[in-house]
Amino acid sequence: MMPLVDLRSDTITHPTEAMREAMRAAPVGDDVYGEDPTVNRLEEMAAARLGKEAALFVPSGTMANLASALANSRQVPGLLCLENTHNLAGGTVTTPQQTTEVCAVAHGRGMRVHLDGARIFNAAVALGVDVQALGRDADSVMFCVSKGLSAPVGSLLCGGAEFIARARRTRKYLGGGMRQAGVIAAAGIVALETMVDRLAEDHHHARLLAQRLAEIPGLRVDLATVQTNIVMVEVADAPTIARRLADRGVRVFLLSPTRMRMVTHRHIGMPEVERAAEAFHQVLRVAAGKS
Ligand SMILES: *Cc1c(COP(=O)(O)O)cnc(C)c1O
Repeated sequence: MMPLVDLRSDTITHPTEAMREAMRAAPVGDDVYGEDPTVNRLEEMAAARLGKEAALFVPSGTMANLASALANSRQVPGLLCLENTHNLAGGTVTTPQQTTEVCAVAHGRGMRVHLDGARIFNAAVALGVDVQALGRDADSVMFCVSKGLSAPVGSLLCGGAEFIARARRTRKYLGGGMRQAGVIAAAGIVALETMVDRLAEDHHHARLLAQRLAEIPGLRVDLATVQTNIVMVEVADAPTIARRLADRGVRVFLLSPTRMRMVTHRHIGMPEVERAAEAFHQVLRVAAGKS
């Protein structure tokens, strides 16, 4: 069996050896009582990195967004949610200036702004800016350590101290209190310390893959939207194409009957990019009846 080229998502990344070692050695306590030193350290690191007063470790990005929405409800007349990078737009980036402008409009109307920054470090690396510049004007920012940063589990919700205290209570009643969560937070610390800069490699590989696919008749790739680690491809009968790619050891994510998504990550190097491009060539030749 040939090794799989899995381009469905960057969430499939496995923890690094350094993460596994940190997880083994992590001091722990009951985080629901605020007594897990490793979780506390990760939360402090996240808050400092984003330039916010406090942060909260949650099991998933979905729970971070939900906790933010619930902790904001009844506090303000409205909550504007932004996404950077923008997943369904192909991982496109929003600049600090654009973010500032949109936040100013929302704040002018008394609204708060939550930034879904599941892949905000991809945006920062792609733009060559400090991540703080992307989250400065948002009242709260969520980011995932479980995607391209390669930690096994977890997301951080960052914001003001009072807001995070409310979100902490919300996390508990959502079932997100995790006890000795330092075991997984330890991997998040390694992710923040060592895995951010290498995201540039993922962006480079996405670009090369997109360029190769754009040359193949029958595929439509908008290279302008390939700004980070996501490649969107339009193709007739995407489900059949995806199945034939899978037969050749290449897995993609199906978004619609005519659209598929590929995400590069730590386990995709040049050989995998070449193999994926070659599989597309073969499958599209068959689809065009030129085999
Ligand atoms: C992955 C993702 C989420 C949800 O994160 P989970 O940890 O999978 O719940 C939310 N928003 C965006 C933009 C994402 O990419």
